Amino acid sequence: MEQVVEVCGLQKTYRGSGKPAVRGVNMAVARGEMIGVIGPSGAGKSTLLRCINHLVVPTAGRVFIEGEEITGASPAKTRKLRRRVGMVFQRHNLVARLTVLQNVMHGRLGYMSTLDGALGRYAEEDKRRAVNILEQTGLGDFLYHRAGELSGGQRQRVGIVRALMQEPAVLLCDEPIASLDPASAQVVMELIRDVCRRRAIACVVNLHQVDAALKYTDRIIGMFEGEIVYDGPTAELTGSVIEKIYNKPMAELMIGIERTELTA
Ligand code: ADP
Repeated sequence: MEQVVEVCGLQKTYRGSGKPAVRGVNMAVARGEMIGVIGPSGAGKSTLLRCINHLVVPTAGRVFIEGEEITGASPAKTRKLRRRVGMVFQRHNLVARLTVLQNVMHGRLGYMSTLDGALGRYAEEDKRRAVNILEQTGLGDFLYHRAGELSGGQRQRVGIVRALMQEPAVLLCDEPIASLDPASAQVVMELIRDVCRRRAIACVVNLHQVDAALKYTDRIIGMFEGEIVYDGPTAELTGSVIEKIYNKPMAELMIGIERTELTA
């Protein structure tokens, strides 16, 4: 199977902290795979994601993007590899005063010279592609609206389209629905799943909500205190594994989840 991301012996200890946030993590992500990373707050999920695209520099270990090493890479190579790694954040990170289209075009910056980027000299073809994707994702009526005028769910969708403009091989989503109401969360998760499926983009999504992970992913990575304690098919995730990941009895965890959605 073709690996889009490979993580070997990853460790991250933040400065001033005695305890590693991530330790001894090994994982690989295949093309088109949809992975949910779950675990209690502080388990290291966000650190793991940020180490993959080098937003956080690991203390030890190696990370490969499409077979090329990003750890220890030159700034130019890091920039090149990052183009293939789209990132979606909990709080979308859009520029509120710019239009939806302008925000989405920022996804092309990694492919442009600094000057062209600063002057907003985007290729016509890229603009057409942006409009197309925005129309396909139900945002066609908002092209010239300022990002700051949109609802939380709409902003998150714009953030996803911006990441798609990078033509990523993998999309890393860090708690993409944590600040959304349930209806918007569903729209956003369905969009992530559908665009990744259609374009064979791999996706690694950190989710606080176990029920969303069960519903939308094919594979689960469970983290506890910086380590991977489960890595396997979502369909095989059992109640006892979830209790192990969260170190809590199911009764305290399964708010909103039907027991029948679990295998045992
Ligand atoms: P999760 O995403 O599972 O909530 P994080 O990766 O955010 O976990 O955090 C893992 C650990 O690293 C926590 O103990 C957290 O306090 C610590 N941590 C996260 N970011 C930083 C940072 N920038 N500086 C210092 N410690 C951090």
